[in-house]
Amino acid sequence: MDDTEIIDLATRTLEAIADDLQASYGEDGRLDLRWIPTLEVNAHARSLSHQDQPPIHEIAVTYGLAIALYKNIEDVFIFIDANQADLSEKQLGLRPLKEFFGNSKISNLTRNSYLSALTWVFFHELGHLKQGHLNITHPNLFHQFSESYSLSENNLATDQSALSHCLELAADFFATMHVSDELLRHFFKEPPELEKAIASFFIGVSVAIYTFTDIDFEAIPQHPEGSHPPPILRLEMMLPRAVEYFSYLKVLNGYTKEKYYDLVYLCTLNANVCAHIRWHIQEGEESPSLNINENLSATPPHLRPNGKSYLRDIIQVLDEIRPILVSNMSNSYHKDSTYVLSITKAYREIVFED
Ligand SMILES: [Zn+2]
Repeated sequence: MDDTEIIDLATRTLEAIADDLQASYGEDGRLDLRWIPTLEVNAHARSLSHQDQPPIHEIAVTYGLAIALYKNIEDVFIFIDANQADLSEKQLGLRPLKEFFGNSKISNLTRNSYLSALTWVFFHELGHLKQGHLNITHPNLFHQFSESYSLSENNLATDQSALSHCLELAADFFATMHVSDELLRHFFKEPPELEKAIASFFIGVSVAIYTFTDIDFEAIPQHPEGSHPPPILRLEMMLPRAVEYFSYLKVLNGYTKEKYYDLVYLCTLNANVCAHIRWHIQEGEESPSLNINENLSATPPHLRPNGKSYLRDIIQVLDEIRPILVSNMSNSYHKDSTYVLSITKAYREIVFED
């Protein structure tokens, strides 16, 4: 697809979603979608109303993001297609991905993955707005969240960074649950199609997160730095939660607990591999090694160096602000807290043990 066709697809998709969401804004509120005709890769969430007024929200997306996201996802599928012979089953769980290739054209795989990734970015912005993140960081100002890491404020104090990272993870979680519900709505009666859609979504999101940044693929700082969380941590915290959600709803017929574990593992692994391929293509490596994720995916973030200290900072902030997020959501959107980030007791015990 050329750039014009990509922009056309992106605008049609997001405008339809924004229209569907208007009902949740009541008669006096509004959600605007704005396209920014620049090649910069970015997306923004902006509130144009005070907290006690009907919400006037704006989500802005650049043409640069719409195009780069499509091309990056396409690059990953082209790479996998060209290297199928080298991608043995043993190598990082790529078997299911190869099966998807079967008779599917790269253009179809790219399109499906792109639509779920683009929707995820849109819902991430919506999460910032619906959960009132702007009111938490800037209570007396009209402010906007931007997604580009390169524009991040690198001189933030650690506690400001921790709050910012926590809100980004909360928006990621909102978006992941929202897209999961959309996939369920579409594929509820077709479990094999749902399984493919989930993997396609995970691949798209993995590429999307790396489209916003060129920071190190797998680094986790000891404490939060700058405005956004490390990309690998965003993936590893979000993707398994989506599969847990499907498991909780028992939507995949005939799935045992073990099969769900397999799905979490394979989808996360595939997503990690795609993120890895994407990052190396970005770095200009023609033939990226496909081995590094073996360690990465076998060791969850809370067990890697720096993971515990980083996550302790995040969880402490989340515990302070979560009641506000739940309250903001119940005012305007979902009556329950399904879409609000939570950390399980078991996860906490590992993070806080010495
Ligand atoms: Zn954000």
